[in-house]
Amino acid sequence: MEHAYDYLIVGGGMAGDAAAKAIRAADATAFIGLVGAETSPPYQRPPLSKALWKGDTALDSVDLGTAATGAVLHLGRRVTSLDPAARRVRDERGDSYGYRRLLLATGATPRRLPFAAGDRLIHYRTVDDYRRLRRYAVAGAHVAVIGGGFIGSELAASLAGVGCKVSMLFPGESIGSGRYPPTLAAFLDDYYRGRGVDLLAGVKVVDGRADDTGVELVLSDGRHLRVDAAVAGLGVTPDTALAEHAGLAVADGVVVDAQLRTSDPDIWAAGDLANFFNPSLGRRLRVEHENAAVEMGAHAGRAMAGAGGDYTTLPYFYSDLFDLGYEAVGLLDARLQVVEDWSEPHRKGVVYYLEGGRVRGVLLWNVWDQVDAARALIAQPGPFDAASLRGRIPHDG
Ligand SMILES: Cc1cc2nc3c(=O)[nH]c(=O)nc-3n(C[C@H](O)[C@H](O)[C@H](O)COP(=O)(O)OP(=O)(O)OC[C@H]3O[C@@H](n4cnc5c(N)ncnc54)[C@H](O)[C@@H]3O)c2cc1C
Repeated sequence: MEHAYDYLIVGGGMAGDAAAKAIRAADATAFIGLVGAETSPPYQRPPLSKALWKGDTALDSVDLGTAATGAVLHLGRRVTSLDPAARRVRDERGDSYGYRRLLLATGATPRRLPFAAGDRLIHYRTVDDYRRLRRYAVAGAHVAVIGGGFIGSELAASLAGVGCKVSMLFPGESIGSGRYPPTLAAFLDDYYRGRGVDLLAGVKVVDGRADDTGVELVLSDGRHLRVDAAVAGLGVTPDTALAEHAGLAVADGVVVDAQLRTSDPDIWAAGDLANFFNPSLGRRLRVEHENAAVEMGAHAGRAMAGAGGDYTTLPYFYSDLFDLGYEAVGLLDARLQVVEDWSEPHRKGVVYYLEGGRVRGVLLWNVWDQVDAARALIAQPGPFDAASLRGRIPHDG
């Protein structure tokens, strides 16, 4: 079957949804198509590891309502080829989709463990993964969480919260090591242990086997761990295959210019997939966070519909870990110079990440409504040091 659109979006995630809404807002009559590999219409991913485990959030609430834009949604369809010269993509069933302007919003795919995953070993990313984990994560079940980054730490807290026995395995010294200053990371480890999570630090999963009754994990220190189910959050890799085969510039993601346009003038890219330049940080980035997906999707949609302007938004993200929560802007890299400013040690405070006297990142730990202040600080040339930063961002209101 042949379809033809003014605007075609490949990828039915948060960036794709935001683009469809922005295009519709700019162009009331355009013919918009969206092709997405998942069978669900675009939805919010962050609740999959947080709110949906708290009991007061219904699964339906994650739907983003893309259909209301009037875009035609081709779901359960994976695009397998892109021909920029013909301005056409094709899906795995042979349907073809012509476009005038195209957005690539194919996001990222979870890294996988090096052995066959049965139903009980879940590389966590989608709403189907959530449904599958829910089946096994009943009170009293023993679940291994593999990975100590964002997804692993959120899932470990959520699973413990629904009464699972949780073993959390990660190669670093502590939860979030490399991101949080060492004393905060050590505090988090204690916090998790205090809530019954068994931490196995400094280990990797090197082998394993999943069957109908459980998952057997072989660890790098020789230990074996038998659990009812295992969920992995090992990071993601951008889905660049289409762009690469089409000859677009790719370097840790699809390379885009300040308007989020790829090396082809009729193709844009946004979200986890896109590698863009941020002027405040003075470097190219690829960001795997909701805010970037939504803002870039919307920006690309407007640009495709003819509105100009550069994309300058600093990366922002948030997380919930048991009853702790934070927001963060910019780069959180513990290798930078770190200035900690606590009003309550490890409970409430601000952590600044500096490079050559410039603030590159701000962690607002249980400090709220200060994201704009953090963004403004990162945009300033400085120089800053510990003395000039302490007390700079207020911890209350
Ligand atoms: C469990 C979880 C919790 C998270 N929590 C937070 C959080 O608290 N805060 C935060 O800032 N960020 C969070 N994130 C990250 C955030 O959700 C992502 O950065 C964001 O969803 C990326 O959106 P995207 O549209 O770029 O890509 P994706 O959401 O990956 O969407 C891409 C879509 O494109 C589809 N696709 C891929 N290839 C093709 C193809 N060839 N043809 C058709 N379709 C294709 C994929 O199947 C997918 O549906 C979380 C992510 C997960 C998984």
